[in-house]
Amino acid sequence: MNDDCPKVRPFKVNPPRRGRDEGTTWEIDCPFCFRVHTHGAGIGARVPHCSGPLASFTTSYVLVEPDGTPDTVDRKAAAKARRRAERAVVARDRPQRSPAMAERLAREAEEAIAAVAAFFPRPS
Ligand SMILES: [Zn+2]
Repeated sequence: MNDDCPKVRPFKVNPPRRGRDEGTTWEIDCPFCFRVHTHGAGIGARVPHCSGPLASFTTSYVLVEPDGTPDTVDRKAAAKARRRAERAVVARDRPQRSPAMAERLAREAEEAIAAVAAFFPRPS
């Protein structure tokens, strides 16, 4: 856990308990596997519950206060981009016969990951 951990702002605060504005759970877009994760409400470091082919990037992240801005992410398009990136990573990680093919698949995976990451701007 250090300053390099990405900061993540919840896009959804689940039903606030009476007298507890921060809610009971927060939903976030994971900056590692690009799936939605749910954590107990509260700022601070969390260990992500990553799954899928992109999960190997996992370290940890820091939850920051929800700021009440509406969620504008096109989740359907983002999920499609995520599935594409997952397929690209699986293809990249298979043994390749030629270095040229390995290089091409690595580049395609990198581009696909960048495309899905672009859906989720990080708080500064
Ligand atoms: Zn994750």
